[in-house]
Amino acid sequence: MRMILVGPPGAGKGTQAARLVDRYKIPHISTGDMLRAAVKEGTALGREAEGYMSQGALVPDSVVIGMAIERISQPDAVEGFMLDGFPRTRPQAEALDEAMTAAGLSLDSVALIEVDDSLIVDRITGRRSDPETGVIYHLVFNPPPPDVVDRLVHRSDDTEEACRARLVKYHNDTAPIIPYYEEHGILCRVDGVGSPNEVTERLVTALGHE
Ligand code: ADP
Ligand code: ADP
Repeated sequence: MRMILVGPPGAGKGTQAARLVDRYKIPHISTGDMLRAAVKEGTALGREAEGYMSQGALVPDSVVIGMAIERISQPDAVEGFMLDGFPRTRPQAEALDEAMTAAGLSLDSVALIEVDDSLIVDRITGRRSDPETGVIYHLVFNPPPPDVVDRLVHRSDDTEEACRARLVKYHNDTAPIIPYYEEHGILCRVDGVGSPNEVTERLVTALGHE
């Protein structure tokens, strides 16, 4: 299965991707995670991306497209992949299509996780992640167990200010990929409000079993 998870920041893409890749046995490819790793390692790509990320801006297409296409060409993604956070602009979606067509492949589904803007700031500012296991928690909605609390990370772009900038970017730059995939007949919309289990069940129903 070759699929994409789309949705505003905080929609639950990372949370749901972790569950779905277990079920579908495909790699979870998050461009946000890849970029954060590059920033941490201090690579040239990371140094270029850092300023955009901290302000809640998008990293330029010229940087992200090559990184994502290279990643889906790796051996572990031959049988399928779950892209999370890519594509995020119309040119990224077109570049992905071109690369897949050139490889004789096509996308199976694009799942849009819908969450109203009014719920997003609370989700983002309360997000914490465990650097050892990668598990995503929320201080209120998915509280971490006491033994991991001290090591949890609060992303520097998970402030209210950067979150609002990311929401504007989402509506201006990312939302246009929704009609693009709708025209291709592969978009499914899933309500992202409810417990994470409920959202997973909706996604599995929408995507079909394999
Ligand atoms: P995204 O990858 O789309 O930015 P995350 O999966 O990181 O979103 O989730 C953002 C925050 O919202 C996290 O703190 C997560 O624990 C919490 N969260 C995820 N799914 C739900 C849900 N269904 N209801 C409430 N909070 C959720
Ligand atoms: P969220 O979980 O809030 O949706 P991500 O972890 O996916 O955020 O991305 C964090 C940041 O990394 C984004 O705000 C943006 O600066 C950068 N980024 C990630 N993916 C892309 C992409 N496909 N295009 C441009 N910038 C990206």
